[in-house]
Amino acid sequence: MAKILIYNQDTNRMETFYRDENDSMPYNVNRTLKVKEFRGSSKSNILWTDKRTMQAWNSQRYIYGAPIYVGFAFKRPYEGGHGNQSQHYAGTAFDVGQNLTNNQRTVLRNSAKNSGVWGYVEPVTLSPTWVHFDRRFGIPACSAGGYPLIRQGSRGNYVCIAQDDLNTLGYRTGGLDGVFGAQTNTAVRNYQKARGLSVDGIIGCNTWRSLQADVVGTGKTNTTID
Ligand SMILES: [Zn+2]
Repeated sequence: MAKILIYNQDTNRMETFYRDENDSMPYNVNRTLKVKEFRGSSKSNILWTDKRTMQAWNSQRYIYGAPIYVGFAFKRPYEGGHGNQSQHYAGTAFDVGQNLTNNQRTVLRNSAKNSGVWGYVEPVTLSPTWVHFDRRFGIPACSAGGYPLIRQGSRGNYVCIAQDDLNTLGYRTGGLDGVFGAQTNTAVRNYQKARGLSVDGIIGCNTWRSLQADVVGTGKTNTTID
């Protein structure tokens, strides 16, 4: 059983679902993406993604017209395995097609590019033995493909990442819910103060870089919410 947090862009609300591993992901149609496929190798009890990413998957699957093997998708930052501002930690990226031949992967990669539903499809030179595609949202606070600035009042998967980082580091946000409220603001300020960053409660380029550098791949701690 997994707890799944979904950011619904149509209502600007976080939604919570409970699903078994063989159930479909929320907003998935025709059972083309099971919970166990989305989680890949993640051991987390809590998963998150958003409605637009699930809709992009539905479109991609429909356009490709055949089952798509999913090797990896979601990871918690503390589980590591990807770069510091990877969309895999936002639950919006897929690594698929590990079971295909190179030629078959080219067909799938081109299908992903031509579908127009993804923000980024990785070139074959970077991922020759799988196909990576992802959705990305907002204006990156730092480098291309990175996370957008978030602050009190923000909602969504990027807030989940920040709350996960802060709790894992011992700066308690009072929950892992994707809603940037007063307690998350206080946790950010306390973290910024401890790290010598500007104390403004805003997670922009410098605070994102610092948080992710502190957490990615370190493993769960006794203050991690799971
Ligand atoms: Zn990837």
